[in-house]
Amino acid sequence: MNELAIHGGTPVRTRLLPYGHQWIEEEDINAVAEVLRSDWITQGPKIEEFERKVAEYCGVKYAVAFSSGTAALHAACAVAGISEGDEAITTPITFAATANAITCSGGKPVFADIREDTLNIDSNEIKRRISPRTKVILPVDFAGHPADLNEIKTIAEEKGLIIIEDACHALGAEYEGSKVGSLADMTAFSFHPVKHITTGEGGMILTNNEEFCQKLKTFRHHGIVHKPNEGPWYYEISQSGHNLRITDFQCALGLSQLKKLDFFIQRRREIAARYNEALTKIDGIITPFEEDFVKMVYHIYVIQLRAEMLKVGRKEIFKALRAENIGVNVHYMPIHLHPFYKSNFGYKRGDYPMAERYYDRAITLPIFPKMSNDDAEDVVRAVRRVVTYYQVE
Ligand SMILES: *Cc1c(COP(=O)(O)O)cnc(C)c1O
Repeated sequence: MNELAIHGGTPVRTRLLPYGHQWIEEEDINAVAEVLRSDWITQGPKIEEFERKVAEYCGVKYAVAFSSGTAALHAACAVAGISEGDEAITTPITFAATANAITCSGGKPVFADIREDTLNIDSNEIKRRISPRTKVILPVDFAGHPADLNEIKTIAEEKGLIIIEDACHALGAEYEGSKVGSLADMTAFSFHPVKHITTGEGGMILTNNEEFCQKLKTFRHHGIVHKPNEGPWYYEISQSGHNLRITDFQCALGLSQLKKLDFFIQRRREIAARYNEALTKIDGIITPFEEDFVKMVYHIYVIQLRAEMLKVGRKEIFKALRAENIGVNVHYMPIHLHPFYKSNFGYKRGDYPMAERYYDRAITLPIFPKMSNDDAEDVVRAVRRVVTYYQVE
């Protein structure tokens, strides 16, 4: 067998394969250029068209586009009424933006530990963390696998809580036959280049609640409400707000990308299927779990190391895979272990054992529609080479 690249052998690949990448074609570029040549480059007709098309795709009444997924989450937290002293329950295994959106509204993120299989927030842990100050439950569809939305809805209805679903990993995912976006009070998507479709930066909230929709639009635009009866120029600041708007040319890109979403998802699922088939045969790793009543869309593909079967830790395996030019990553360090959350909210190591155990063993492999089947085989070869080298006999 070949020597590992980290020990001086020839790497599996000559160029680094990133963990995620956008797929932009000439038709996408032309769609953007067309708007740039028009009169409206910020608040033009493409925004509403993009909102309408995404809402239709997900089977939801209303959509409000934002300058990023983070901005969308921030607006949703504000519109849900989170303010000083309120609590929102979320998962520690997510991108920082999820918890930051709660703290930006003045709320406290209260974490609930994850399930071992789907790596999503555990409903029983949510129940344990509810207090009189809880206002929102904020589940994340980790890696593109929908959270336990039925159970979370039951809890929310019983306690009068609002559900904001962070579906930034899960555009196009399905839960019991329904598209993600139609299941929570408000659902957030991101259109960052590593996500399923891109607008450069961009995000969106989907909702079936007309009042939420209005408030989200107002929050996105400085809290401004126009009152033409008072005069054609007249507007008032009716609530808190920001400038969280997206541009028209970004939405033109989004519209062009949306046409390819189903193909992008199919490609991700094909690559994941190939990984699952090849990697389940390696004893030292655990491959992702997918419930049979969901359609997972693999924003990321995460393997977990079986620490007891390996001679070295995650860091060594990670470095060895990078040396093979596989752009592995880690998603994510649990939020409660970040210094800001430790010092402001008193969290510490040991608070969320499942999340911490997961973090110590997780490695994200490259997955994105534009990678070729050969790229996928490189990943399989590199993982097989590195993990079997370090496996105990
Ligand atoms: C990407 C992402 C966000 C933020 O989206 P941006 O568009 O990058 O601001 C929020 N939550 C999760 C889980 C994400 O993956």
